[in-house]
Amino acid sequence: MRRRGIFGGTFDPPHYGHLSLANCCADKIPLDIVHWVPARTPPHKDSSGISPTEHRVAMVMLAIAGNPRFELSRIELSSDQPPWTVFLLERFAREFPDDELHLIIGGDSLAEIHTWRDYRRLWTLAQIDVVARSGWDASAVAEEIFEQVNIVECPSVDISATEIRARISRGESIDRLVPPAVRDYIIENDLYGHS
Ligand code: ATP
Repeated sequence: MRRRGIFGGTFDPPHYGHLSLANCCADKIPLDIVHWVPARTPPHKDSSGISPTEHRVAMVMLAIAGNPRFELSRIELSSDQPPWTVFLLERFAREFPDDELHLIIGGDSLAEIHTWRDYRRLWTLAQIDVVARSGWDASAVAEEIFEQVNIVECPSVDISATEIRARISRGESIDRLVPPAVRDYIIENDLYGHS
């Protein structure tokens, strides 16, 4: 039996906030492996303006390179089902029937989980592990949901992909926000209006 973390996101781009969260969950829960699952079309966001999948996948590979606990999952990219988290967990449950599944999300995602398709089924398929995020108001989460999830205490890392994209478009440095290989990839591929 292995403990598998499932960490979905847009990863546009992946950043130190993601790495810190995934490392902290792997240490504290603990997890044998964290599957990083780039979304094909982000389920809970306006999908316009999201970078092409191939770039987001390439950046995740660079971000997690050399970490034996992290693995890229292309499961969402090859699926013909709607990009709902409940389907994602069902596919993992079918693929790894003997393993313990953990869905890793940030606190901001928990705040909107009641809008997700079949959200009550999520905690029948996996443990939901929630990492607080700066600006997140845990008291706003409905009790029915809060009592089903596991809060993981991790250092707060105040980084978002939105901030990174904005900094690049303004020509500002992102050196402390993403690993050097991701920064170089962004520059080489002229992503986010870098010039
Ligand atoms: P954007 O700014 O484009 O919305 P993001 O930085 O939130 O992107 P996502 O790919 O949407 O990145 O995040 C994937 C998951 O990681 C989500 O569950 C999100 O809550 C969580 N997450 C991202 N950044 C952090 C952070 N700094 N601290 C805690 N959780 C985070």
